[in-house]
Amino acid sequence: MSNIKVELTKSPKPKPVDESKLTFGDVFTDHMLIVDYDEGQGWHDARIVPYGPLSLDPAAMCLHYGQEVFEGMKAYRADDGRVLLFRPQENFKRLNLSNDRLCIPPVDEEFMLECLEKFVSIDADWIPKAPDTSLYLRPFIIAVDPHLGVRAANHYLFMVIASPVGPYYPEGLDPVKIYVETKYVRAVKGGTGFTKTAGNYSSSLKAQYEAKEKNYTQVLWLDGVERKYIEEVGTMNVFFKIDGEIITPSLDGSILGGITRKSAIELMRGWGMKVTERRLSIDELAKAYDDGKLEEAFGTGTAAVISPIGHLNWGDTKIMNINNGEIGPVSQRLYDELTGIQWGKVEDKYGWTVTVK
Ligand SMILES: *Cc1c(COP(=O)(O)O)cnc(C)c1O
Repeated sequence: MSNIKVELTKSPKPKPVDESKLTFGDVFTDHMLIVDYDEGQGWHDARIVPYGPLSLDPAAMCLHYGQEVFEGMKAYRADDGRVLLFRPQENFKRLNLSNDRLCIPPVDEEFMLECLEKFVSIDADWIPKAPDTSLYLRPFIIAVDPHLGVRAANHYLFMVIASPVGPYYPEGLDPVKIYVETKYVRAVKGGTGFTKTAGNYSSSLKAQYEAKEKNYTQVLWLDGVERKYIEEVGTMNVFFKIDGEIITPSLDGSILGGITRKSAIELMRGWGMKVTERRLSIDELAKAYDDGKLEEAFGTGTAAVISPIGHLNWGDTKIMNINNGEIGPVSQRLYDELTGIQWGKVEDKYGWTVTVK
């Protein structure tokens, strides 16, 4: 199966000199992975080529109707030099879930992972070594037929690009301030909220900017029907510790099933904590706060891993300061354990990491 062509760049770019100053997603490596799809032929011509602009017909369907899906994952450099991926099979499984919803043909998960591993091994020198840095990987699929009628495309590109990154929030693990969004919604059941598709993100920008204007880092999304049940925080899944119990919204179709979310649940259950996936309303949360039972709140996602929430503003009338605006013990333990496994520093009891050869 492994028929992956490689064309190495003749003009390698200089790598970032000061790894401690890396931002998120601004610098790209020397190469990129491309696989074509044509109806009748399936996915074909996997190749790793020098990184550079694409030539697209202006009528390419992804540019008009947003038939696109993507993934987000990281390659980590362990102290002993190994290159590690974290549960990459889950990303390809989820890619196919997104593909199905967006009428994009499924990929061979194993083959695409093999292609991605080869790509990572070719650009492995780009994986930074400074603490909290990694190589962010962005697999994505775009519809490229030149056609303006609304239908699913017959020709697609699967690609992976890579970017050496520092921490997602420059403020690090400091708790963020979150605005409870009551005007805009991100997703509804039956829509595309459970997929990673471009339109979900372009349509959430306005809420994000309005929150920024009020000095908040991100928004807390409520459900799109009743505007009542908590869904996600920004582009992360969200967890609360209420009276000793961990509660996270259940995956009911409008919420993205995060791999960090899944891993956090498995870790906490492994530690003997009670973790419940269920609907949680903003009223119930506010009540728990008033009763002094809201102990911790945090977001989970590949980019930031764990993002503690120190302050919630619901309608400018209800302000919740959580754990005195400081990171809580569960958030800290999860961050340490997850990053420890990802960077190969603590024992990987669950067999989550994959070593790139
Ligand atoms: C990617 C993403 C997440 C987090 O998923 P991970 O697999 O943990 O990175 C959560 N919510 C949204 C909307 C996302 O796009």
